[in-house]
Amino acid sequence: LSSTLGALFERNARLYPRRSAVSYNGREYTHADIAARMHRLASALRSSLPNQARVSILSQNSIEYIETMGAAYLSGSILVTLNWRLAVDELSRILADCEPAVLLFEEQYIETVDRLRAARPGMRLICVGEAPEWAEAYEDVLTSESTGFPATAVSPDDTACLIYTSGTTGVPKGVMLSHRGLLAGALANCINTNAKTIDRVLITMPLFHVGATIMYLGYSVVGARTVLHRRFDAVQSLAAIRDEKITQIHTAPTMIHQLLSVDGSETYDTSSLTNIVYSSSPMLDDLLRRGVGRFGPIFTQIYGMTEYVGATCLQPYQHVLDSEGAGRLASAGQPSQDTFVRIVDAEGNDCETGDIGEIAVSGTSMMQGYWGAASAKSILRNGWLHTGDLGYIDDESFVFIVDRKKDMIVSGGENIYSREVESAILTHPDVAEVSVIGVPDQRWGEAVKAFVVRRSGAEVSADEIIAFCKSKIASYKKPRSVEFVDALPQLPSGKVDKKMLRQPFWEGQK
Ligand code: ATP
Ligand code: MG
Repeated sequence: LSSTLGALFERNARLYPRRSAVSYNGREYTHADIAARMHRLASALRSSLPNQARVSILSQNSIEYIETMGAAYLSGSILVTLNWRLAVDELSRILADCEPAVLLFEEQYIETVDRLRAARPGMRLICVGEAPEWAEAYEDVLTSESTGFPATAVSPDDTACLIYTSGTTGVPKGVMLSHRGLLAGALANCINTNAKTIDRVLITMPLFHVGATIMYLGYSVVGARTVLHRRFDAVQSLAAIRDEKITQIHTAPTMIHQLLSVDGSETYDTSSLTNIVYSSSPMLDDLLRRGVGRFGPIFTQIYGMTEYVGATCLQPYQHVLDSEGAGRLASAGQPSQDTFVRIVDAEGNDCETGDIGEIAVSGTSMMQGYWGAASAKSILRNGWLHTGDLGYIDDESFVFIVDRKKDMIVSGGENIYSREVESAILTHPDVAEVSVIGVPDQRWGEAVKAFVVRRSGAEVSADEIIAFCKSKIASYKKPRSVEFVDALPQLPSGKVDKKMLRQPFWEGQK
């Protein structure tokens, strides 16, 4: 791969100038329109910035977001995508880490940015919408600059973006992704989703995470049309699928649940759909069954992480059923194109087929490393990313994830996978949600503890849950204690915040 991401947008402008590239807020934007505005913004950024300066963006999905992505790629800057759900202090830590020269933000975040800017004097502030007196207006920046674009030599090995991880296991880490790595991820995605120029794709997941970014880039490789929503809304998504005859969507399991729960969900015509991609966590059996019942056998699971540009493994539902048996539906799928997966023990040696170890990944989509302070904690060894996920692989390279290393509980010398205990408890009809952690225990080292959200009206007791577990899994894996809560603490990515659940017991040790 000798190309760059900017070239991808330029190619589309040449090949499909009049085709609609993005539909946003009721308007169509052609590939030529978008490329022209990307160039204008790139030239505005370029005039004031050194190569590889950080350009950060705080915005929900929008056409300006796409333009900023392209402009950063074209100008040789590094795009830093900020999670708009984060609190001011969290954002401020990220800005201190990556020291951006520019912060582009939407009008609705004026108050947040006003609190962030004092710590970073000299940062160029550009506001999409009605700008405050201390920022430039986005549209003015675009019109004030010439469209003549200064030639910038961008190399495939330059860093294209810095994406912060979800922070599930610690402080979010800035992952440096190169043009080559992202392009390889985009091409793999194209193959994985069987993307075509005539596809109509719905993107509602946030572009600040790697998942939606690489989906968008992947579909862009073939010049498909993207319908972009600011954020996910189940009713709006169903309406868009029906009205725009959407062929592919990118989701997370919780979103599938919401699509199925909309009043009159089944009355929306969704027969145009050919592929429903989901990532970030596995789908529970029951939800997958209901999803397939409603939408057909058109699901594709992706297992990935920010450090490897999204997809490391994929599991197309129909293929898995064909390659018998249904047991493989519990897997995260087989390695993606140009991606290699090993299972390694604590010393880094390969485990036998079927044995549990840490999942290690390698290939062209690999990150360049972590930015700044986090770089010391790099988990890259000889080009292999040690993912922190535990799993095993079967004889046809299907990868099964059993837990995160940090979530595994060692009790009485036995390894207990929190996910296994959670899955067992979740099959209880009175349980709506559950999270399992290890807490310090004199006798066992660690003891299994479950936090349970009961279904409304249900009155199941702790003893009943413990007894239920004994009928499902080995007795030593059952919780020693069960605590009932109204809700589980959630991270912005929608994952359960186990750090927070553990904290009162470990006083921050684990
Ligand atoms: P941090 O690295 O900051 O602790 P994070 O690992 O949650 O946060 P991401 O890069 O967004 O940040 O998420 C990647 C992780 O999400 C994977 O390592 C894995 O644990 C989990 N994951 C992603 N896809 C799947 C899937 N299909 N099935 C199971 N787990 C998944
Ligand atoms: Mg991680």
